[in-house]
Amino acid sequence: MTDVLIIGSGPAGMTAAIYAKRANLDVLVVEKEYEGTGQMAESSRIDNYPGFYGINGYELGEKIREHAEALGIKFLEAEVTGIQKTEENFDITLESGEVQSSKTVIYTAGAAHRKLAVPGSEKFENRGISYCASCDGAFYHGKDVAVIGGGNSALDDALLLSEICNKVYLIHRRAEFRGDASTLAKLEQKDRDKLEAVIVFAEPENAGAIRRLAENLEQFDFIPGIHTPEEYGRYMIRESGRFEYDDILEAFYDYEGYGQHRIQQENGRFSGYGYVSYPGTMALEDLMAEDPAEAYQAEQGLQMGGLE
Ligand SMILES: Cc1cc2nc3c(=O)[nH]c(=O)nc-3n(C[C@H](O)[C@H](O)[C@H](O)COP(=O)(O)OP(=O)(O)OC[C@H]3O[C@@H](n4cnc5c(N)ncnc54)[C@H](O)[C@@H]3O)c2cc1C
Repeated sequence: MTDVLIIGSGPAGMTAAIYAKRANLDVLVVEKEYEGTGQMAESSRIDNYPGFYGINGYELGEKIREHAEALGIKFLEAEVTGIQKTEENFDITLESGEVQSSKTVIYTAGAAHRKLAVPGSEKFENRGISYCASCDGAFYHGKDVAVIGGGNSALDDALLLSEICNKVYLIHRRAEFRGDASTLAKLEQKDRDKLEAVIVFAEPENAGAIRRLAENLEQFDFIPGIHTPEEYGRYMIRESGRFEYDDILEAFYDYEGYGQHRIQQENGRFSGYGYVSYPGTMALEDLMAEDPAEAYQAEQGLQMGGLE
């Protein structure tokens, strides 16, 4: 009988084990892999663990395991196949049929990434294919990347990568995005280009804010294909209809100067897709924030749904 039985010796299990041991409890860690340290063993380089910049994942795992062993934490190599609650304790069944009893159980068996089932995905894993933008995004600094998926995670990761990478393509197989992203799928190509530009302009922080931008696209001014103040000035004077353009005066038009002036006035920005500005009256932050009334209704809807 142990005080605490921990299933899995990844970072979560090992952290729990160290804390439990320091509380003077008797701890047993059950791990199915030989000397397993969880998913981090698959990582060739970890840059976000304080004090161990650039460490190999396998090496970090070994260090953590050594730390635990030094504290006297016990390990058992076995696969847990069942957990039963008894009157006062828990019975943990192992694959061999053996049963371990413990007063408490901490289940830290991790989660596996859903892998990309295409030829080459295994071969190029960690050599161009990653499954975690916040872990590996920095390795793709300044590069063109593709995010595969259409849910909120894909959108959030695409957003995160847009801060680091040169260009981010979002590739999804369904006709519609899922979750908050469903709004996006209804947009025509020209509006998608506009949305890309608006995202660069507004810097939304999550998928919900992107959805709100998509719903309010008409509040932004967008001129596709315009990338410099000179081009913008030329567009405004010759094509926008605000001026009576006269080619006799061509030599006298200061396209760049006028473009600069307007950009400053409008607080406009250039994106890869064109020029964008926001003349809307509402503060941009408020436009992107979740509407409290909508959120309340959604919550009520969920509660009603739950009663049926
Ligand atoms: C290639 C790669 C690179 C990564 N890079 C980074 C990074 O740079 N920075 C970062 O922060 N994160 C990174 N991650 C993510 C990080 O590794 C995970 O978030 C972390 O390992 C999760 O820890 P965990 O303890 O919850 O689970 P896991 O690490 O998954 O550990 C779970 C453990 O439980 C064991 N187990 C499961 N079922 C049973 C059972 N029935 N019986 C007994 N044992 C069982 C497993 O064998 C495993 O050892 C990376 C992941 C991968 C795959």
